[in-house]
Amino acid sequence: MHIEPVTGYSRGIAVERTRDAVQLDWNESPFALSPRAQAAYDAFRTGNRYPDIDQSCLTAALASYIGTSPDRVIVGAGLDDVFTTTALTIIGPGDEVIISDPTFGVYRSLFELHGARVVNVPLGPAPDFALPVEGIVGAISGDTKLIIVCNPNNPTGTLFGKAEIESIVAHTPCLIAIDEAYAEFSGVSHLDLADRYPNVILFRTMSKFAGLAGYRVGYGIFPPSLLPWVRRAAPAFRNVSAISAAVAIASLDDRDHLMANVRTLIAERERVAAALNAIEGVEVYPSAANFLLVAAPVADTSEIVASLATQQVFIRRFDDPALSLLHCVRVSIGSRRENEIFLERFAEALPGALP
Ligand code: PMP
Repeated sequence: MHIEPVTGYSRGIAVERTRDAVQLDWNESPFALSPRAQAAYDAFRTGNRYPDIDQSCLTAALASYIGTSPDRVIVGAGLDDVFTTTALTIIGPGDEVIISDPTFGVYRSLFELHGARVVNVPLGPAPDFALPVEGIVGAISGDTKLIIVCNPNNPTGTLFGKAEIESIVAHTPCLIAIDEAYAEFSGVSHLDLADRYPNVILFRTMSKFAGLAGYRVGYGIFPPSLLPWVRRAAPAFRNVSAISAAVAIASLDDRDHLMANVRTLIAERERVAAALNAIEGVEVYPSAANFLLVAAPVADTSEIVASLATQQVFIRRFDDPALSLLHCVRVSIGSRRENEIFLERFAEALPGALP
């Protein structure tokens, strides 16, 4: 079975969550639907009908939000689904995909599942986690179909320079995808690269800045030459339900509200980072996203994460030793109340803390 060697994606800790659990492990938004999105949700009555064919209304709304032509946008049920459509379009057995760990774990599991060999060219050491531009370009072989750069990068929060990314793009005969899942937090988009180069794919999602993780709405902006093939691979309704499309379209009409939420989270991120950095032995790495990667003064954070989970406070750790993040945790930025609870419990769980 070809699925046997595939690296599964680990979701982290499996403790049952109560309704008021502090969930800071999956980089979700703490905010409820925006007013227009809530109104669209309340007004929705047409679940007996299929969604728009090709999700044309949602696609047009996203294209106008991003500033590109609807012809170049393919939506999916979250970015994970758009990754699948991408893999179906371009990956055959023996093809290679280049990633730079530590990065989003789904890339490896999903592209391996589609038969690719995933080649890791690791980021530089903390705290900079520099993008290995020359290493990536040097790793390109005749079999390389895709390079994936996550910017800002999950889980490090690092924002790579556009010039570095452009130097990979310019030296790359194959496709390069830039995952901009957190772009609204960094304020940096690479649409200009996607417009100037024929080999750039952008991945975006409504899960993070718009708080629609549960609705599953993601999208890719693809090079014109690839689009006929992407359309063949994509499902007719793009796997996006009609209610999710309605909520996403209404959310885009509320973008001032959503961007105010983003600014609140960025201010909270800086407040939480300062509070953590003030703890002896703790180091917070610079983040341009809605989460922080935090180095704790321990060799392994598994006990800290487990202890917080028993208190219904959920944060993430990365237990693959190859990632060199055993001493780290990743914490999403939640509401002020959630962040306060996390800060208190985290400080209590550190070694040497008074009981
Ligand atoms: N890309 C990155 C970098 C992510 O961190 C995530 C979610 N954690 C995704 C993609 C998946 O997003 P979606 O909810 O749209 O599937």
